[in-house]
Amino acid sequence: MAGIADPKSVQVDKSGGTGVEIAWKDGHQSHYTFQFLRDACPCALCDDERAKTSRKPGSPPAAAPGALPMFREPLRPTEVQPAGKYAITFVWNDGHQHGIYSWEYLYRLGVEHDRRWRDYLAALRQQGLGREPKRG
Ligand SMILES: [Zn+2]
Repeated sequence: MAGIADPKSVQVDKSGGTGVEIAWKDGHQSHYTFQFLRDACPCALCDDERAKTSRKPGSPPAAAPGALPMFREPLRPTEVQPAGKYAITFVWNDGHQHGIYSWEYLYRLGVEHDRRWRDYLAALRQQGLGREPKRG
């Protein structure tokens, strides 16, 4: 089944840690940070957790009220594997590994991620922080 959500090329920067870059066959280009992908994990466990806390895929979990920010090691996949022709799976360095990221899901996330990134930059500008941070 060929759809618009077919990747032309997929690049995973495992060692550099900048994230995943996908060029789609329709010409769209998507960039995802690893943290974003981890927070958007589509497995049943994460899905359940997000539903309970009404968190959107890709949004970080809310910190407990009053909790100090916890140090989180930068998220990276230790392994990346294709799942047939339709998906990709990651083994994350936090030990999680059940998510199967279909191309269709990634495509939708990519559009969402772009929108979030624009909102983020717009928010920075509104705060007078004109200098745009390096992406990734
Ligand atoms: Zn998960």
